[in-house]
Amino acid sequence: MPDSLLPAGINRVLVTGGAGFIGGAVVRRLLTGSDALVFNLDKCGYASDLASIEALPESKGRHQLLQLDLADTEATAAAVQQADPDLVMHLAAESHVDRSIDGPGAFISSNVNGTFSLLQAVRRHWEGLSEERRSRFRFHHISTDEVFGSLGATGRFSETTPYDPRSPYSASKAASDHLVNAWHHTYGLPVVLTNCSNNYGPWQFPEKLIPVVILKAIAGEPIPLYGDGANVRDWLFVEDHVDALLLAATRGQLGQSYCVGGHGERSNREVVETICQLLDERWPEGAPHARLITRVADRPGHDRRYAIDPARISAELGWEPRHDFSSGLAVTVDWYLQNQEWCRSVRQRAGYSGERIGTRA
Ligand code: NAD
Repeated sequence: MPDSLLPAGINRVLVTGGAGFIGGAVVRRLLTGSDALVFNLDKCGYASDLASIEALPESKGRHQLLQLDLADTEATAAAVQQADPDLVMHLAAESHVDRSIDGPGAFISSNVNGTFSLLQAVRRHWEGLSEERRSRFRFHHISTDEVFGSLGATGRFSETTPYDPRSPYSASKAASDHLVNAWHHTYGLPVVLTNCSNNYGPWQFPEKLIPVVILKAIAGEPIPLYGDGANVRDWLFVEDHVDALLLAATRGQLGQSYCVGGHGERSNREVVETICQLLDERWPEGAPHARLITRVADRPGHDRRYAIDPARISAELGWEPRHDFSSGLAVTVDWYLQNQEWCRSVRQRAGYSGERIGTRA
């Protein structure tokens, strides 16, 4: 297959967090759209699953799982040595705000200490490369718009927005962004960062808003809506995020960050109601599903609004999302309807049955 995704000389890619939702989509794209060897460093935690990758014929011989915790510095150094990468895409992180409220320690361990450990290992690797490989090498850190805090009714986040994280999750991601920038400025490590808005799509562990709502609705259970339901997120279909990540990783300016968002601002209430309408057509036995919407106590410290101005990535790298929220959501609802067995099995393996978390503050 012609190698259209990756520039010449990028033959070995280390993806961290590739057993998760977005990392899995990155790994699948690399396997199907390039000839690279893909090393997938993941601790294989509660939200991980490799089924979507292992089902691909391209994974045979080109995908290698390196199962370890990034907080283990020695194991991380050995894994980076083994992968011997030309490109690192760092997605591994604890990623659920609600879980960060109940147990912030895991977020510091993975997102802060884990990133530190990876940076040190990658720095040693990069310093030891031949001049030719060293000149091509890149470290891409994948982050979130949540590091910028909470917006009022107007305005959008951009690359110059000051950091103002407000949850243990976003604070740990902000810390990791600062570490990555520091390794660039202090040691010269060639880094690129991206800060993306909320993702949705197939294969997302069913603990986050969109899959939770779909599964609650088809089970005929109350659909929880936090607070007044007016919190706004800027939704992006995961495959559009993968397009942006591969552009930034391979063509983004070194030392630069790119904000990624799909012009998909919706209040939580709008998201939940739209899912209910889609299900009324596709799963009519429970209709109208909106009768199940139930207001519950708000998330402690719930950021009010996120919105991204993606002008830089659009102008510099030509990125545009290919899905609007309606089309991406319809694909997602159909996927969850067709993959209820997968949802049951990953939830069972994780010991999670859809209960509310993140109320301990
Ligand atoms: P996810 O929870 O689905 O997957 C994360 C993966 O990282 C899991 O497989 C987990 O086992 C692995 N991991 C966590 N800690 C690790 C550690 N210490 N060592 C090794 N592996 C570890 O998360 P996701 O939604 O795919 O998010 C991926 C990345 O994208 C994260 O860095 C997240 O902050 C960022 N991001 C996510 C979103 C979103 O909406 N999901 C939006 C913007 C940015």
